[in-house]
Amino acid sequence: MDNQRTINPTGRVLLIYTGGTIGMGINHQTKALEPLDFNHLVSNLPEMKYLTTGIDVFQFDHPIDSSDMAPELWASLVRIIAEKYEAYNGFVILHGTDTMAYTASALSFMLENLTKPVILTGSQLPIEHLRTDAKENLITSIELASAQHEDGTPVVPEVCIYFNGRLLRGNRSTKQNADGFNAFDSFNYPHLCEAGVRFQFSTHHILKPDYTKPMVPHFELNPNIMVLSLFPGIQASIFKHALDAPELKGVVMRSFGSGNAPQQPWLMEILKKASQRGVTIVNISQCVTGFVEMGRYDTGYQLKDTGVISGQDSTVEAAVTKLMYLYGRYGDDTKTIRQMLSCSLAGELHV
Ligand code: ASP
Repeated sequence: MDNQRTINPTGRVLLIYTGGTIGMGINHQTKALEPLDFNHLVSNLPEMKYLTTGIDVFQFDHPIDSSDMAPELWASLVRIIAEKYEAYNGFVILHGTDTMAYTASALSFMLENLTKPVILTGSQLPIEHLRTDAKENLITSIELASAQHEDGTPVVPEVCIYFNGRLLRGNRSTKQNADGFNAFDSFNYPHLCEAGVRFQFSTHHILKPDYTKPMVPHFELNPNIMVLSLFPGIQASIFKHALDAPELKGVVMRSFGSGNAPQQPWLMEILKKASQRGVTIVNISQCVTGFVEMGRYDTGYQLKDTGVISGQDSTVEAAVTKLMYLYGRYGDDTKTIRQMLSCSLAGELHV
């Protein structure tokens, strides 16, 4: 950590409420948690009035459990941010934890040349609970979204997840814990900030955008993508059926270790055929830390010949949403799509 400071947040932040546990309450019939509207959230957060940052709120017509998140809703989030971009110093998105890392990854690609903070947060316990983690997560996210350097540029001009004292790059984050307050981590990238008594920013790990360029929003995504995990005993016929789906555009293949697969001729044959008919297969590891190096073992080397592309140290969430974004943007131009998969577009890869 190279930069210890106390931030003095001012400016304006747009708070976008999509739903999630943070604003949920018990349905007395089913006894299950269900999303409630923003008024419920605010009534449980009297601390809001002490913030020095100006806050406006935008809420989804129907707050959702984030398991219902979808590409159309990502496009809606991009539209809201693009329309209000000039009016705010930063944006905070309240979101369920289950798919937060997918949303953060998608937004990082869809908001090209982002120059302002977009911080996603939520909580593991609803805000109405006495032991809730919602208040700290929300208040610190607002402070981070409005934090500026002395020259007026934002301290974190990128899509991030803030949770339990850590600020993480959004497209490097993964939900790692379904119960604990430490719901997220970024296993292949350092934390951007540790929020303790002071904020300790890791400044040289934070993106430095070109402030002379405009932010370019993208709305088109192609969701004809699949995630496929390899495992010992995987069957040729089932694998083949999955890859033969005519609508299929991209596959995120979760391989073993540093990008290895069973040495089965049928597997290489199916992958090669799919790749030749224009399906892009990205190889990422089932391990949460480390990266794909298809030349390290013979079992990985063979994959290179099939046209499979290395996903390097990508998360599943980043690989899935990057494929959706690239197919949405470049259509059937698979040459460009495959080239761009090897480049880091928003800090998602270590290249
Ligand atoms: N199921 C909830 C959601 O993702 C979980 C949470 O918010 O933590 O909306």
